[in-house]
Amino acid sequence: MKQLLSKADPYRPFKIEILERRQEVKDTFTLKLDVPLKHDPGQFVQLSIPGIGECPISISSYSSSFLELTIHEIGMVTNTLSKLKKGDTIFVRGPYGKGYPMKETKGKNLVLIGGGCGVAPLKGVVSYLDKHRHDYGTIDLFFGYRSPEHILFKDEMPTWKELYKLNVSVDKAPTGGCYTGNVGFITQLLEKSQLSPQRNAAMLCGPPVMMKFCIDILQKKGFHEDQIYISAERLMYCAFGECCHCMIKGKFTCLDGPVFRYDQIKEDLNEEH
Ligand SMILES: Cc1cc2nc3c(=O)[nH]c(=O)nc-3n(C[C@H](O)[C@H](O)[C@H](O)COP(=O)(O)OP(=O)(O)OC[C@H]3O[C@@H](n4cnc5c(N)ncnc54)[C@H](O)[C@@H]3O)c2cc1C
Repeated sequence: MKQLLSKADPYRPFKIEILERRQEVKDTFTLKLDVPLKHDPGQFVQLSIPGIGECPISISSYSSSFLELTIHEIGMVTNTLSKLKKGDTIFVRGPYGKGYPMKETKGKNLVLIGGGCGVAPLKGVVSYLDKHRHDYGTIDLFFGYRSPEHILFKDEMPTWKELYKLNVSVDKAPTGGCYTGNVGFITQLLEKSQLSPQRNAAMLCGPPVMMKFCIDILQKKGFHEDQIYISAERLMYCAFGECCHCMIKGKFTCLDGPVFRYDQIKEDLNEEH
C-alpha cells in the first residue's frame, strides 16, 4: 500500500494511470486509479491536471489494489477530468484529513445518511464495512437523490440490499416513468424509521441543509451530538493546513476534518447558516 505524500515537497503530486472510467449518471463519473493507497474511509486526495488546476475529491472505494473517485462535473477541473479515459494519467497527492471513526465505532450499529454526490465518501465507508461486516451491528443506509436519473451506484444496490438496510428516495420522479421506489425527501424516510440511539453512531455527508434537517431528526430520536459525524466540505488549496482557506473558525477542514464529530463543530456550523 502506498502514500502519495512527499515530505520534501508537500505540494508534489504523483502521476497515476486511470484503469477505468465509469459514467454513473449524466454529470457524475467514477475514475478507478492504479494506486493501492493506504487510507481511512472519508479521507480525500488532491487531483490535478497540469495547466488546468487541482481539486479535493473524497475516496469512494476501500481496496488494497485500486482507488476510486466519484466526481460531479461542476467547473474547470472536474469538467476536464470528465474527458479523461482509460490509460490516461492524472496527478494525485494524499490521502488527507480525518475520515469517519471506523475504529471508535467498532461493535456499534451504524446509520449512514448521504445526499447526492455526498453518497460517494459513504460508499467508501460501505466498502470498508463489506470487508469488516462482523465488526459492526445493524447498518442502516439512507441515500437521497434529486430524481431517478441522479441515483448513484445502481450496480452496488442489489448487494447493499442483501447486506444492509438500504433506504433510497428521490425528491421528485416524473409521473408515468418506470421508477417504482420512494419519492420524497430522505428526511421523511429517516423520520419514519425505527432507529434507536442505543449503541448507534450516525455518519453523514451531503448538502448542508440536508445534513441540518437529518441531525434535527436524529436528535429528536434521542441521538446525542457525540454520536453524529459529518463531513464538511470547504474550498481548499494546500490540504495540509498552510493556506488557511478551509478554516471553519479555529479548525482546518483539511487537517481536523473533513469528518468532524457534530458537538465539536456545531456552533461554528450554525453561525455560518
Ligand atoms: C474534502 C472535500 C471532498 C470533496 N469530495 C468530492 C467528491 O468526492 N466528489 C466531487 O464531485 N466533489 C467533491 N468535492 C468538491 C470538489 O472539490 C469541487 O467541486 C471542485 O473543487 C470543483 O472544482 P472545479 O474546478 O471543477 O470547479 P470550480 O470552477 O472551482 O467551482 C465551480 C463552483 O463550485 C463552487 N465550489 C467548488 N468547490 C466547492 C466546495 N468545496 N464547497 C462549496 N462550493 C464549491 C465554486 O465556488 C464555484 O461556484 C470535495 C470537496 C472537499 C473540500
